Amino acid sequence: MSSTAVDVLVIGGGQAGLATGYFLRRHKLDYRILDREPAPGGAWRHGWDSLQLFSPAQWSSLPGWQMPETEDGEWPQRDEVIDYLARYQKRYDIPVERPVEVASLTRGVNRLSVETDRGTYHAKVVVSATGTWSHPFIPQVEGIGDYRGRQVHSAHYRRPEDFRDRRVLVVGGGNSGAQIYAEVSRVANASWVTRHPPKFLPDDVDGRALFEMATEKWKAEQEGREYTPAGTLADIVMVPPVKEARERGVLETRRMFTRFTPQGVVWPDGEEEAVDAVIWCTGFRPALAHLEGLGVVEADGRVDTEGTRSVKEPRLWLVGYGDWTGFASATLLGVMRSARAAAHEINDYLEGF
Ligand code: FAD
Repeated sequence: MSSTAVDVLVIGGGQAGLATGYFLRRHKLDYRILDREPAPGGAWRHGWDSLQLFSPAQWSSLPGWQMPETEDGEWPQRDEVIDYLARYQKRYDIPVERPVEVASLTRGVNRLSVETDRGTYHAKVVVSATGTWSHPFIPQVEGIGDYRGRQVHSAHYRRPEDFRDRRVLVVGGGNSGAQIYAEVSRVANASWVTRHPPKFLPDDVDGRALFEMATEKWKAEQEGREYTPAGTLADIVMVPPVKEARERGVLETRRMFTRFTPQGVVWPDGEEEAVDAVIWCTGFRPALAHLEGLGVVEADGRVDTEGTRSVKEPRLWLVGYGDWTGFASATLLGVMRSARAAAHEINDYLEGF
């Protein structure tokens, strides 16, 4: 197995890794990116077939180069995002090695050692940008281990036809739940199950308006002002399939079932029902298994950070994941601020190395 020395090693070649690479390149740093996928696109490669962004191209762009407008002027589709990320990597000549799986990190005197299936890398600095897609979350509902029907998380859901004519529960009150329920309910006997009634945004509020409101909220917090936005990035955007489900009169939810039986579920009123499949749209957790050995992953599954830098391991930065590593850092547009700050701090750190 080989042994490679590099100043900065970025783990993860999705949008967060590429945006970080863009700024590391601007600082002319010696860096490379390791990514376990065989091709560019990060988590978007695993999105379902009809997945469409909730904001237009210009509001879904990485630093330096705007995502090309779609031919029909609609919000970009999954494959257009994958294509954009592939071209972005090429455009800025970002050095990504694929497929390389990072297993663990250990501390050395002046470097962190990174074990992979292609050998060991020794880096002065590591940026973790591994996202959340490979760590889907499913709640521990009573009896789940006995249920014999099909279960699939939105991370692995592909298309509604796989559930045609089945009795299906789509669980989860966010955008994934709304969009998957909207299309599955066209071909299956589906119910949408949520813990609380979902919050639908007005029809004219799309991702662009949400970003504007979220930015305004962030500014207000910095300036100590009061500001209550009309919606948040967690509320449901009325994309065309969800509107269509509303027009069909099926955009309704049931409260969460209390437990599973081998054949189905038990509803809060005690009624038992046989169910063929459950689609979990219940979110993700940060994919940080490779950092466990450093002792930096806390009980809540996150790493304590100051900005994007680990508090317990000052040679480690984290980019992407969610608001805890920077405002809106798990979005295409929002990751720029975190990536820029991380690269700037890394440059300062290496100057004093
Ligand atoms: P990822 O894209 O997951 O990239 C991480 C990369 O690291 C992957 O290639 C992975 O294989 C690799 N990796 C992980 N672990 C290892 C390891 N141990 N070794 C080597 N490589 C590893 N955002 C928007 O801006 N607009 C939207 O409209 C939008 N819609 C969304 C819809 C859905 C359904 C979801 C789930 C998210 C959406 N997002 C949207 C959010 C966001 O853009 C994505 O979650 C995004 O993929 C996060 O990018 P990332 O680079 O942080 O992580």
